[in-house]
Amino acid sequence: NRQFVLAERPKGEPTDNTLRLETTEVPTPGKGQMLLRNEYLSLDPYMRGRMSSAPSYAPPVEIGEVMVGGTVAQVVSSDVQGYEAGDWVVAFGGWQDYTLSDGTGVINMGKSPQNPSWALGVLGMPGLTAWAGLTQIGQPKEGETLVVAGASGPVGATVGQIGKILGLRVVGIAGGSEKCRHVVDTLGFDACIDYKADSFADDLAKAVPDGIDIYFENVGGAVFDAVMPLLNPSARIPLCGLISQYNATALPEGPDRMNYLMGQLLRKRITMRGFIVFDDFGHLYPEFAKQMTGWVQEGKVKYREEMIEGLEQAPAAFVGLLRGEAFGKRVIHLAD
Ligand code: NDP
Repeated sequence: NRQFVLAERPKGEPTDNTLRLETTEVPTPGKGQMLLRNEYLSLDPYMRGRMSSAPSYAPPVEIGEVMVGGTVAQVVSSDVQGYEAGDWVVAFGGWQDYTLSDGTGVINMGKSPQNPSWALGVLGMPGLTAWAGLTQIGQPKEGETLVVAGASGPVGATVGQIGKILGLRVVGIAGGSEKCRHVVDTLGFDACIDYKADSFADDLAKAVPDGIDIYFENVGGAVFDAVMPLLNPSARIPLCGLISQYNATALPEGPDRMNYLMGQLLRKRITMRGFIVFDDFGHLYPEFAKQMTGWVQEGKVKYREEMIEGLEQAPAAFVGLLRGEAFGKRVIHLAD
């Protein structure tokens, strides 16, 4: 059983010393337990937070503990009611080949699900994040303008496509022309603006002639600076993530803009609400799963996955994810 444990807490970007590969015996399930063979491991930005001991909504991974992560697994043997050998499940199995589970939080997908790994993306946690953040906090109304950052990633891509289904004008923000082309040509957004271009702020302003009614925030930093002056009165901001800051070790240099931000929120009566997907919207999972499965089957929501072979690739693939090297949802296939 290969497993990555947290070896030391990173300062800034994780390094080769952050995680350590160990090999242990395959665990033996006891009474009321099942043994899961992890087939796919999800890589997600929140994992950077779990490597850190800074206060957060969830406790950190302790030094020496297996790194946490969402997994799609097959049941090897089971003494848990409702699960039998051969079932495919979605679990929180961590960065390792095998996991013991008592069934808590484990979703059974049956013996032959289509595209099982999609349960880590559009049909799972990132999909629910997109759907719930947009519908519950974004409160979209037909004809409004939605801007979404991180537009080619699993959350952003899904937010924008739902926006189109709901009749919004949708403008994505992504890094580079290749990702922007995908966002418009394949995902069907109305426009996509490259935040790495010098003309970014002007390009964004031109793409939203009627201002911004909903800004789905995934990144923070310089992107939010360009968005802020374009927000309409009564705009809604689902505050989902701030990936540009996850490796930061200090606040950025420059003038303190807190009062400018608060003035904007006040005068324009803007609602900005942070959320943590399962804590706030976990109860909506069944409704989400039904609707999203339908949209995916009908081809109304498209999904791009970047499958990477081998558990040993996971640490570098995770660093790359935070750098913007992923193009679509990054998943590790735990090859034998
Ligand atoms: P993504 O694949 O979108 O994250 C990686 C992308 O982030 C990169 O490809 C890059 O996009 C972008 N990025 C990285 N650094 C920067 C930067 N400095 N400025 C702008 N963009 C940057 O991940 P997900 O779709 O999984 O998640 C999106 C966001 O949602 C994250 O912030 C995540 O933490 C958050 N989240 C929050 C949840 C919640 O419950 N609140 C649940 C799930 C996710 P590009 O290539 O375009 O530069």
